[in-house]
Amino acid sequence: MIRYRVKPGTKVKLEAWDPDDREIFDGTKREGRKELDPHTRLEALQDLLYAEGKHRVLVVLQGMDTAGKDGTIRWVFNAMDPLGLRTASFKVPTRHEMAHDYLWRVHKQVPGDGEIVIFNRSHYEDVLVVRVHDLAPRKVWSARYDQINAFERLLAESGTTIVKFYLHIDKDEQKKRLQERLDRPEKRWKFNKGDLEERKLWPSYQKAYEDVLSKTSTAWAPWYVIPANRKWVRNILISNILIDTLEKLDMKFPEPEDLEGVVIE
Ligand code: AMP
Ligand code: MG
Repeated sequence: MIRYRVKPGTKVKLEAWDPDDREIFDGTKREGRKELDPHTRLEALQDLLYAEGKHRVLVVLQGMDTAGKDGTIRWVFNAMDPLGLRTASFKVPTRHEMAHDYLWRVHKQVPGDGEIVIFNRSHYEDVLVVRVHDLAPRKVWSARYDQINAFERLLAESGTTIVKFYLHIDKDEQKKRLQERLDRPEKRWKFNKGDLEERKLWPSYQKAYEDVLSKTSTAWAPWYVIPANRKWVRNILISNILIDTLEKLDMKFPEPEDLEGVVIE
């Protein structure tokens, strides 16, 4: 899994990362679902995380429109206990949010003890959409990479494990998925005409993502580039990385109180 991780300090060129890579799983979609289906290991680990109540886990999901952020949440996290899981989605900031620094709304949503929080978009929008659309001067957004690294370092040093996933699709795959949103009545609600305007800015976004991946993959908050043209490969890979990450926490169920002589009448 290490080969999907962006080594701190490397310059990322997304063209060199294959969105069709299937080294982690070479089967069909149907087989892929089965592979993911029992989810038992991930479920058990989250159970333990919640019971132990010691660690905090932050999962950041970023990607172009249709890259599969929602689908990842639905498929990878669906076996987890809602008691210990929360999703935070970041949209266009409200006026109230805009009246504060850009990390203000983000910091409020970080996980507490025993909790896993998924960021569906994140503070990275403040160096992505903000940069691509000139919503802030270059001087302002270009200072943010260091600020973000420092912020994530604070979280990490306070007991938060951070994993960040960039869902990597190519432009053809996005076309297919946008078309599907148009064609299928149950998906049409997800179609925004605005997404077509964003699609025209594909190269600028890729460039902005390359800078994010190059500047903000750190030892304490690594980025993974997830091949995401195949949804099931994406899910299996993310699930495996999460299992790996949680296993490293070396968690234990809390010691029970002294139960000697306890009788239930
Ligand atoms: P969706 O994820 O499809 O619900 O769309 C949310 C929209 O909010 C996307 O178009 C994002 O680019 C936008 N967004 C999220 N964060 C920010 C931000 N900090 N500044 C401007 N737009 C943002
Ligand atoms: Mg959208």
